[in-house]
Amino acid sequence: MSETKKFKTESKRLLDLMTNSIYTNREIFLRELISNASDAIDKYHYLSLTDERLQKRDDYEIRISVNKDDRTITISDNGIGMTHDEIVDNLGTIAKSGSLEFLNSMKEEDLKDNNIDVIGQFGVGFYSSFMVAKKVIVETKSPFDEKAYRFTSEGTETYKIDEISKDSLGSTITLLLKDNTEDDNFDEFLDQYEIEDLVHRYSDYIRYPIKMMMKEYNDEEENKEVVEDKTLNSMIPLWKKNKNEITTEQLNEFYRNKFGDYEDPLMSLFISTEGMFTYQALVFIPAHAPYDLYSDKYQKGLQLYSKGVFIMDKCNDLVPDYLRFIKGLVDSGDLSLNISREILQQNSQLRKIASNIEKKILSELEKMKNEDFEKYCKFFEIYGINFKYGIYDEYGAKKDLLKDLVLYNTVKEEKYITLKQYKEAMKEKQEFIYYAAGKSKTSINAMPQMDMMKKHDYDVLILKDDIDEFALTVLGEYDGVKFKSIASENLDLLDDEEDKKLDELKESKKSLIEKLKDSLKNQVDDVVLSKRLVDSPVCLVSGEGLSIEMEKVLNQLPNSSDVKAKRVLEINPNHDLFKALEKLYDNSDSDFNDYASLLYNQALLIEGLPINDPLLFSEKIYKLMIKAAK
Ligand code: ADP
Repeated sequence: MSETKKFKTESKRLLDLMTNSIYTNREIFLRELISNASDAIDKYHYLSLTDERLQKRDDYEIRISVNKDDRTITISDNGIGMTHDEIVDNLGTIAKSGSLEFLNSMKEEDLKDNNIDVIGQFGVGFYSSFMVAKKVIVETKSPFDEKAYRFTSEGTETYKIDEISKDSLGSTITLLLKDNTEDDNFDEFLDQYEIEDLVHRYSDYIRYPIKMMMKEYNDEEENKEVVEDKTLNSMIPLWKKNKNEITTEQLNEFYRNKFGDYEDPLMSLFISTEGMFTYQALVFIPAHAPYDLYSDKYQKGLQLYSKGVFIMDKCNDLVPDYLRFIKGLVDSGDLSLNISREILQQNSQLRKIASNIEKKILSELEKMKNEDFEKYCKFFEIYGINFKYGIYDEYGAKKDLLKDLVLYNTVKEEKYITLKQYKEAMKEKQEFIYYAAGKSKTSINAMPQMDMMKKHDYDVLILKDDIDEFALTVLGEYDGVKFKSIASENLDLLDDEEDKKLDELKESKKSLIEKLKDSLKNQVDDVVLSKRLVDSPVCLVSGEGLSIEMEKVLNQLPNSSDVKAKRVLEINPNHDLFKALEKLYDNSDSDFNDYASLLYNQALLIEGLPINDPLLFSEKIYKLMIKAAK
């Protein structure tokens, strides 16, 4: 039986990219195919532990051979193979979650112009063969399909599947190399030493022997040609080697290969512990955030191995949400191989390992912060927001772990600072750590609520992200100093004398304030004489609890139930506008209510909140403008 099928559109796109690629690292195809072969053996081995139908074996191997006459290179494994449906699902479609979204998000020109980065962005897997091959043939037999099949593709619209006879389980992938052209030569991949070198470089840690029949010349017997079956890899996983023997360069190389990144990681960490529980872990922080980090589809997790045998790809219990961006693996001899995924979740061993790794990563980041602050700032630029969510999550369970790792911009500093630095730079009489929500330093500096801060020369944290204020609310205080929004109701920065003066004023203007309150009774909860305004006539502040900024954030959420912060209108008793109001009040002028409403609406606008009735607002302004010109 022979059938011809069409590649899925997305796969076709990736294929086009590969066939036309002039990617300088095209030799990675070998690493990708070897790693697929190793995964296939892992799968067989793992299943054979529990599935009666699979014979228990120990003859696993990956074989490479080259044929100079046919210009082919062949990689075969005795792993799990593929059923007919798996061929269609795995080779006819992009399997990797995310790659489809990624490809769709790329514009046609980008794909053409920067294909280097595109390839680097995600592991390209099987399709990378088409960077060097004009034809790819996969012959495969799965224990779950009675028949064996041959998949043939020339990287065009369609591929072919034929039934074949093949008794041994596993897959054999044969690449027919592209023809050499004037500026492109593919012969290197027919050279056995070159292959040996590539295996050394990229696949040394693969745990199954990668074997090749090599022609060697024996010096002793006058260069007589001998054929030798050679194992090309050391088979020792990097993380099983002695920690002192591993260089950062090797770790980085391992990361790039294993996780398909073109850039070295920002941080790599080798953890190897003995004792209560023995495990090794390799943990990496990518230098750029995975493109889908904030999409629902993103899966956090570390690969899990037990005694060098792969168990699962994304063990998410090993990674707290706020470290979701880390990549890496954990190998623990203490975990039973037969362990099911459900039991794994309740496994106390695993929980201990997870919390141990978490602490190690945080202390490494702490070290980076202290020793190379610039690098830490770069890290924080990319991933910092996760820490703010981390503080907020689980009712603040992690806040003490994270509070010294968050950075802020402030109105006075050019660079990021820590809360500790803020506290150390506080003025003598300053009681609080002040913050303001806003998009930029400029917009915050323009806020009326900044008047007093400037007068006292206090620094103010700039909160740019929606999560910021929620996180600070959960933190509550830093080292005994409470946080306070410059827009909160009870901001009192006057000295005793000023306080006394204001109290007297409050008493004497009581009826005016009452009248204002009455006039705005459906819009604000209170009207007070301001202790914070210097140059501005009015501002809107919020009561304890929910702030106006938080109200904005919550109301943007889907299914928000229209929450409202307590609103207090503050009015500056020293401003000319207050004097104007007084005059209107004393004369029982009918314009009083219009003034009150205009002032309130202006306070809303300054806060970046919508005004209730823009039309009415404008009409009132027109009216006053005409009056003023008369
Ligand atoms: P990835 O390996 O990252 O999932 P690939 O494009 O390399 O992506 O491979 C797609 C899928 O094809 C694999 O997930 C696997 O299911 C299947 N596959 C590839 N090579 C083999 C092989 N040698 N044996 C069995 N299955 C394979």
